[in-house]
Amino acid sequence: MNIAVVCTGNELLRGTTVNTNLTFLGSRLTAIGLPPVLALTVGDNLEQLLDALAIAFRHADWVISSGGLGSTCDDLSRDAAAAFCHCELQRQPALAEQLRRYWRQRHPDEEMPDYFLRQADVPSGGVVLPNPDGSAPGIRLAFRLAGREKVLILLPGPPAELEAVFVEHVLPQLPDAGRVPPVKQFTVAGGAEILVQQKMQPLLAGRHVGLALCASVEGTRVFLSGRDADELEQVFEAARNLFGDQVLQGGGLELIPEVVALLRQRGLTL
Ligand code: AMP
Ligand code: MG
Repeated sequence: MNIAVVCTGNELLRGTTVNTNLTFLGSRLTAIGLPPVLALTVGDNLEQLLDALAIAFRHADWVISSGGLGSTCDDLSRDAAAAFCHCELQRQPALAEQLRRYWRQRHPDEEMPDYFLRQADVPSGGVVLPNPDGSAPGIRLAFRLAGREKVLILLPGPPAELEAVFVEHVLPQLPDAGRVPPVKQFTVAGGAEILVQQKMQPLLAGRHVGLALCASVEGTRVFLSGRDADELEQVFEAARNLFGDQVLQGGGLELIPEVVALLRQRGLTL
């Protein structure tokens, strides 16, 4: 099963808001063995949203979208979902009543604009995912596309709301929850990324172990991943032996204690 993420919001493109929803979704999905295969960020624009959904569903069975569920004119995720799935938006009376109550509690002296009730519009066949912290609920919409079962999840943009709805109503629905792919990490001091890769290649030949490299101030961080824990451990140990003294014992995230330990070992001061 593949999952893709679509984030909407002009503020995300302009750099005024950091896309923490993607960080949250990416880390939570990775933790259950379902890292997103693709993430797209688009502005508050219906045409771009529709294009993003089309691309995302080409790569994934489930698409989780973030943002664009509020009541203002730039909130277009509901309209995009309905247009994409060829269904109508239907106002849900119970949700509308809940929104009227929500409004009365927060703005007792102001008349509620009709527009506020857009948040009670749900694409036909959609399931409402209650939002305990805000006015716009999430929506889950199952449909068929080119003969395949697809699921679109719309989540509200405010991070606290997105996180609550995701944990309460999306995570428990995901298959394979609890399957964490093992990852082993170490850091090689003083080696260029490409040279580390070159040296490791013979170790990986014929193995089902993935390699990711990331340059950092301490050196090259090496991430090994694989479903077979024994095989992963063998490659990890072999790789650490290969780099010998260059391997930072603490993983490289704390360079200063490493240096202090080496100086102590050799009776040196700095
Ligand atoms: P929206 O539902 O798009 O109107 O967003 C409501 C609020 O959530 C705004 O303050 C956004 O800046 C914020 N927000 C939306 N998307 C994200 C995101 N991906 N990461 C962090 N904050 C976001
Ligand atoms: Mg927005």
